[in-house]
Amino acid sequence: MPYYDYRCHSCNKLFTVRQHMHDEPIEVCPNCGSNTVNRVMSPATFSIKGVACSCNTPKNQQAEPCCQNCPHKG
Ligand SMILES: [Zn+2]
Repeated sequence: MPYYDYRCHSCNKLFTVRQHMHDEPIEVCPNCGSNTVNRVMSPATFSIKGVACSCNTPKNQQAEPCCQNCPHKG
């Protein structure tokens, strides 16, 4: 499943959600509960569909440490 980045315009929190491509986009901020959340299109995230590493996984989820070829690095 791809990861999607969202940003809340109310508290300015950036968070990443793993969801199906056809899932409804997140509308409520998990941080402040506001509904001013917009999806951030991130080419880096899209290019590594399904790959989990500590760069793009929320801290409350298990993830491998950054792999050598991690596109998020540098
Ligand atoms: Zn918020």
